[in-house]
Amino acid sequence: MKIMVVMPHPDDEAFSVSGTIKRLTQAGHAVVLVETTDGSAGQVHPDASQKLTELGSVKALRREELKQSATVLGINSIRYLDRQDGSLTNGDVMDNALVNQIADILTKETPDVVIAYDHTGISWHIDHVVTSLSTAKACLETRVADKVFLVTRPPSLKLRYEYVVEVRFPITHCVDITSVVEFKRQALMAHLSQKYDWERFFARQDNPSLKTEYFNLSQDNGRSEEIFTFFKPV
Ligand SMILES: [Zn+2]
Repeated sequence: MKIMVVMPHPDDEAFSVSGTIKRLTQAGHAVVLVETTDGSAGQVHPDASQKLTELGSVKALRREELKQSATVLGINSIRYLDRQDGSLTNGDVMDNALVNQIADILTKETPDVVIAYDHTGISWHIDHVVTSLSTAKACLETRVADKVFLVTRPPSLKLRYEYVVEVRFPITHCVDITSVVEFKRQALMAHLSQKYDWERFFARQDNPSLKTEYFNLSQDNGRSEEIFTFFKPV
């Protein structure tokens, strides 16, 4: 089986879905990662400053870190859409700018399953939301993938960005990642420039994201059931 994971920034794959990716690749499935932006707006932790000097740009540094994370997770290939970090807009969805780019990769890669963030982007970051919506639209238009799973946040995780209404996608499936949690840690630590973020992530008491990854089955064309050995219904 081939799984295509579409993520907005280098490190999103590690935070959100690395346990699931590792379980899939361990079982012999192929995973291709599509990266919509270049991560160039990311802050760089002082521990990564020497590497930044060597590589010459934040974009190059984050790409290098992403490659390391992909190696830890057994990801077969990465496709870079190379949009500038923070530059995705409504037009990428409405006018199909990003939708067409993703659809093009879908028709070339012909994955059985696609994984992206749910439409809140988990954090409401505009790149996350636009990548999620564009991926869903591209999947609907191409109908290449049999199933589309959207990464949702754990039931106990609240967001500081939701000031009035809490928006949650229903959790339909989850993946137990306890057997591969060390790989999730390594994938996160590969993103040395983002050390502040993953230190906070590790310090969170009983962090549910180090035990289980949660999904919403968003599109189901009903052809393959093999995937459900990993994605257990809740
Ligand atoms: Zn991100």
